[in-house]
Amino acid sequence: MKTSIYKIEQPEGPLTENDLKAIGECGRIIKEGGLVAFPTETVYGLGGDALNEESSSKIYSAKGRPSDNPLIVHISDMASLESIVTDIPDECRILADRFWPGPLTMVMKSSGKVPSRTTGGLDTVAVRMPDDLTARQLIKASGGYIAAPSANISGRPSPTAFKYVLEDMDGRIDAIIDGGVNPIGLESTIVDLAGERIMVLRPGFITNEMLSEALGTEVITDPALLDPDCKDRPKAPGMRYRHYAPRGEVRPVKGSDDAVSEYIVGELAVANRNGRKTGVFCSSEHASKYDADVIRSAGSLDDASSAAHEFYSALRDMDDENVDVIFVENFTDRGFGEAFWNRLLRSAGSKWEEVK
Ligand code: AMP
Ligand code: MG
Repeated sequence: MKTSIYKIEQPEGPLTENDLKAIGECGRIIKEGGLVAFPTETVYGLGGDALNEESSSKIYSAKGRPSDNPLIVHISDMASLESIVTDIPDECRILADRFWPGPLTMVMKSSGKVPSRTTGGLDTVAVRMPDDLTARQLIKASGGYIAAPSANISGRPSPTAFKYVLEDMDGRIDAIIDGGVNPIGLESTIVDLAGERIMVLRPGFITNEMLSEALGTEVITDPALLDPDCKDRPKAPGMRYRHYAPRGEVRPVKGSDDAVSEYIVGELAVANRNGRKTGVFCSSEHASKYDADVIRSAGSLDDASSAAHEFYSALRDMDDENVDVIFVENFTDRGFGEAFWNRLLRSAGSKWEEVK
């Protein structure tokens, strides 16, 4: 299949005449059952018509994704929400007021309008209204409901820039919209409003504190995410799969700043001696201390948003360089840092080293 590329001239807006025309053409492709990858504020999405089963089947096969891992439905206005859920919970209205459009996905009881191929057979549906202008315009142009997982081959890091989408999806889908680099670079927060207790199923840019503050009640994270030995499985099916895995070994190191950097210096010396190709993902404060083949400095230690923004692209780049072992410093695990730590642990197979 030939994949058409459409470049957006002004992703930050206002969208130009050419941009609107390109997005209109892509909307038509989706309406006709095709697939289009598009930018959002989190990562690139691989979009198809959420109400068309065949489009969802195509998404699963283009990604090589297991079909019991449901897709998020993207909408561009509140009116579109009404027909796809049984009712709109008060909490949804409060959170939508505060965080939509934006990087928050809410799980609600499905009315059955979204086909089970899209919801992975669940009686709930996950919905997000993205903030990105191109994404919202595309949703409108394609009929109102776009099912979109991240636009990567399953098991690869989510694509945070056009070039990574091209790497994974060229020849597999109808079109890619080039909107440059995604501002957040990590997938949306998923909050479950359909269960007995409101719970974060996947941490993201919208933190538990922000949700708790908006709702006036404490919002916790799915306990199965925090404890790999937990007897329950994560409630979001996608969090059960090993994801985001680079070919090299990922070794997160946790502890006080100095202890962490000293430990990594020592372990790098061992790895270098053993002839392994080494990589480090570290803070700008420590970058000059390391002797490694690839060093990715990702902002200050207490700036989780910068670390999160750089993380997936660093994993992909280290793969391209055939790095065997990647040491990762511990950035803050508070606030948005929880989301970064969650993705880091998943890329590392839930292992880390603790130093004093
Ligand atoms: P991705 O599209 O790659 O960002 O992944 C979407 C995530 O949303 C996966 O982890 C899914 O398992 C999760 N998800 C989608 N729909 C639901 C739902 N109805 N209930 C719980 N998790 C969901
Ligand atoms: Mg994904």
